[in-house]
Amino acid sequence: MEKLRTVRGVHDLLPNELHNHNEVINAGLEISDKYNYSQIEIPIFEFAEVFTRPLGKSSDIVTKENYIFKDRSEDELMLRPEGTSGVVRAFLNAGLVQDVPQRFSYYGPMFRYERPQKGRLRQFKQFGIECLGLPSSMADIEVISLGNDFLCKLGLLDKINLKINTLGDFESREIFRDALVIYLNDYKSKLSRDSLKRLSVNPLRILDSKNEGDQKIVENAPNILEYLNSNSKARFDDICKGLDHLNIDYTIDNNLVRGLDYYCHTAFEFTTNELGSQGTVLAGGRYDGLSKMLGGPDIPGVGWAAGIERLAFMVQSEFVNKTDVVLIGQSEKNNFLLLPIMKKLVQNGIKTEIIYDGNLSKKFKRANKIKALYAIVLGEEEISKKVIKLKDLKIGSEEFLDLNQAIKRIKINEDLE
Ligand code: ATP
Ligand code: MG
Repeated sequence: MEKLRTVRGVHDLLPNELHNHNEVINAGLEISDKYNYSQIEIPIFEFAEVFTRPLGKSSDIVTKENYIFKDRSEDELMLRPEGTSGVVRAFLNAGLVQDVPQRFSYYGPMFRYERPQKGRLRQFKQFGIECLGLPSSMADIEVISLGNDFLCKLGLLDKINLKINTLGDFESREIFRDALVIYLNDYKSKLSRDSLKRLSVNPLRILDSKNEGDQKIVENAPNILEYLNSNSKARFDDICKGLDHLNIDYTIDNNLVRGLDYYCHTAFEFTTNELGSQGTVLAGGRYDGLSKMLGGPDIPGVGWAAGIERLAFMVQSEFVNKTDVVLIGQSEKNNFLLLPIMKKLVQNGIKTEIIYDGNLSKKFKRANKIKALYAIVLGEEEISKKVIKLKDLKIGSEEFLDLNQAIKRIKINEDLE
C-alpha cells in the first residue's frame, strides 16, 4: 500500500525540532509572565465571522489563505489564521470589559493556505501577547519592550532589527490614504497585479509590497508622517521617546504597514537577515477598532505575534536526551522484576529505561547509544542476595547495593535532589 504522508506545508515535529520550539515558547511564557501577562488558550476553530468580520475583505489571510469549511450542522467555521481576533472575542465573551486592563499571552498552531517555502507553512505556530483596555501609548512601549526582552532571552537580539511606524488615527489615515491613491493612480499601468487590486480595497498594503517594481514606485510616495494630525504625531513621538528611554534600537520605516483594517497608530516588526525573504520574526501593532468589529464596546488593544518556526530555526540549541539509568535483566524472565524497580526510580525523579531485548552485550550497546549514566543489572545472584548491581557506565565500576542505597548514590552523583 502507498505510504501516507503529511499535507503540503504541514510538518511533523520530531523531538529535536520540538525541543527548539519549546525553548521559544518557554522563553515567551516566562518573560510575559514577568510582565504580568497571563496565559490564555482559545479554540483552534471558530465561527468564520470571528475572522472575516474584523480582518475584512481586503486581507490576504481571509480572502486567499483561509481554511474555511462547513461542519455537519452547516455552521461556517474557520481554522484560525491568527490569534488576536480570538483572544479579543474570548475577552468579550468572558465579560471582562469592566475589568481592564487585561494582559494575555498565548501560543499554538495557526492555519493559512500559503505557498509553502522555508519559514512559510500552512500550519505554523505563533506565540503572541495582547494588552487590552489601555489607550495610552505607554502600553505600546510596554509590548515592544516585552517583544525585545523575549528576543533578548533567546539570545537573538544582535541578529534582529526593530522597525516601527505609525498609521495614525482614523482621520489621519483617511487623508493619507486619499493622497496615496492619487499618487499611485499615476502608476496604475506599472503596479503589480496584486497591488493593482489593492489600490481600491487596501492601498496602504501596497507600501508593504514585496514586488521590486512596486517598491520603486513606493519610494517616492507620500509619507504618512506628513499627514498625521497633532494627536497622532504626539503619540508617535512618545513611543520613540519611550524606546529611547529603554535603550531599544529601532529604525522608522514609513512603508511598514499591517495588513489588516483594524490597525491604527503603532505598527512594528522585528526582522532578521538570517532567514532569507521570510525575515519577519515578530510583528504587531495597535488595534483599537477590533473590539467593536466583534460586536463589543470600544476597547483599545495592542499586541504582537511571533513566528515560532522562524525563531526556533534561529535558536538551534542542541537537544540532548540524557538517560540516567537503564535496567538490565540478565535473562528475559527477570524483566518482570525490573518493573517495580523502574517505578521506584521514576518516583525518585530518575529518568529510566528498561532494556528488554537482546543478549547482555546488545543491551549494553543500547545503554551506550542512549548515553545512560548508570546500569542496574539484575541476575540470579543479585536476586538471591536481594541486591542489585549498580554499574557506573562512565568509569565502569560496579557495586552490589540494595535499591535504596543505589538510588541515593545516583541522586548524589547526578545532583537530582
Ligand atoms: P508575512 O508578510 O511574512 O506573510 P504576515 O504579515 O502575514 O507576515 P503576521 O500575520 O503578522 O504575518 O504573523 C506574525 C508572524 O507569524 C510573522 O511575522 C511570521 O513570523 C509568522 N508567520 C506568519 N505567517 C506564517 C507562515 N505561513 N508560516 C510560518 N510563520 C508565519
Ligand atoms: Mg502573510
